[in-house]
Amino acid sequence: MLATVLSSESAQMTPWQACQRYIEGKVQATTFETWFRATELIVRDDGRACIQVPNKFIADIIEVNFADLIKEALAACAVSFTALAFEHDPTKEWTVVEKLAEQAAETQSRQVPQAVSGKTGRFYPGYTFDTFVEGDSNVMALTAARSVAEAPGNTQFNPLIIYGGTGLGKTHLLQAIGHYAQAECTVGQVVYITSEEFLNEYTEFLRDKKSSVSFYKKFMDTDLLLIDDIQFFSGKKETQEQFYLIFNKLLQENKQIVLSSDCLPQNIPDMTERIIKRFQGGMNVDVMPPNLETRMAILRKKAESEGRNLPDEVVQYIAERIKSNVRELQGILTKYIFSASFSDAGFTLDIAKELCGGAITGKEERLSVKRIMAVVACAYGIGVNQLSAHTRKKEAVLPRAVAMYLCKKWTRQTNLTIGLEFGGRNHSTVTAAAKKIEADLTDEGQTELRAKVSEIEGQLKELS
Ligand code: ADP
Ligand code: MG
Repeated sequence: MLATVLSSESAQMTPWQACQRYIEGKVQATTFETWFRATELIVRDDGRACIQVPNKFIADIIEVNFADLIKEALAACAVSFTALAFEHDPTKEWTVVEKLAEQAAETQSRQVPQAVSGKTGRFYPGYTFDTFVEGDSNVMALTAARSVAEAPGNTQFNPLIIYGGTGLGKTHLLQAIGHYAQAECTVGQVVYITSEEFLNEYTEFLRDKKSSVSFYKKFMDTDLLLIDDIQFFSGKKETQEQFYLIFNKLLQENKQIVLSSDCLPQNIPDMTERIIKRFQGGMNVDVMPPNLETRMAILRKKAESEGRNLPDEVVQYIAERIKSNVRELQGILTKYIFSASFSDAGFTLDIAKELCGGAITGKEERLSVKRIMAVVACAYGIGVNQLSAHTRKKEAVLPRAVAMYLCKKWTRQTNLTIGLEFGGRNHSTVTAAAKKIEADLTDEGQTELRAKVSEIEGQLKELS
């Protein structure tokens, strides 16, 4: 059917336009726009069908992923050819868009300081192999990450996929690979990007090709590609497709790819079958919650990095109680150091007890202090940051007191912890604010306050 349509229309179309029409019917619209729109065909005297593309990267993407489809299109449109080739001519008209993109990229790089050693990506200074504590729960992932950093593209770990629950060190490891590869120059161009940024950049590219700073340009000379949190691609078909095309091209050239996911890749819902297959062909390693010994080591290392030497009993106490998540462990440690530094008694076990008493080990409380703050801020029509800000602005004072009262009533957190969440306020401030609201609520005359609190509590009930 399509062939008939094509042949009847082909009188007005060039052979390549007919082929493009054929291809357009076989791939996603965005894929066509991104990779095929700016292409041309020249059949050389020796019979080679030469597809002209704007640059080598696009040539590679098309060749790796669509050579068969192009051959099929040429045959369907009765273009005879002996072989398929890809050519790019930098002087061609269509490079204008690219030039603009390049200029935009240059202007941007002049304004924003480049990441470590001028390569692509954001690298957080503290996330290196040196600061990562090895334990039974992560030794496999750490070993694989190290090998990949030492010899990107030259290990059996390609792609390497690090998966596991939140706050267990996946981002840290991806970043450590990037840091190492750059510092030791084991590789040329390193790109670190989250899957959310990938999606945003692609969407921006589709919206306005000129400002895309060529979405694909970023990946053009990439030797080591680190994509964080790929579970975010779930259900996003077009983005998955673009990711797949780039992924295939880089792998074919033995470029190293490292991905992270919050679950086993094959369990990511709504992920294209062929992507899952490629993931299974790589190396999947997990990071698990650390055991007690590792948790203690992490606490010590982190405290040391802040110039603190904590009493053993404190380290042990915190590590015994915060079990499932390193981020939470570090969060408690930061609060501990903050509180202890301002307490007359110093670095005592009591402060750790207060902080951990409220911390829910394992499972998160459904109604957290943060959640309550958000609900209260919303009910009063102010920003949640105003609740923790150190201002006495009238519009924030009452909501802040109400939020403190509700946090005391609806969570098991201590005054100390609640105070910290409200911008590091003293526990006695929390007690006083809560008492005041409690008293006001018993006052029949406080109709407005009573109505507001009852409205908020109605919402909290639904959330709990
Ligand atoms: P994920 O990406 O798995 O959610 P992150 O890599 O962001 O977790 O880790 C959360 C925090 O815990 C970070 O500050 C990270 O540095 C720290 N962390 C996690 N695992 C370790 C570890 N084994 N040693 C040292 N710090 C760790
Ligand atoms: Mg992460």
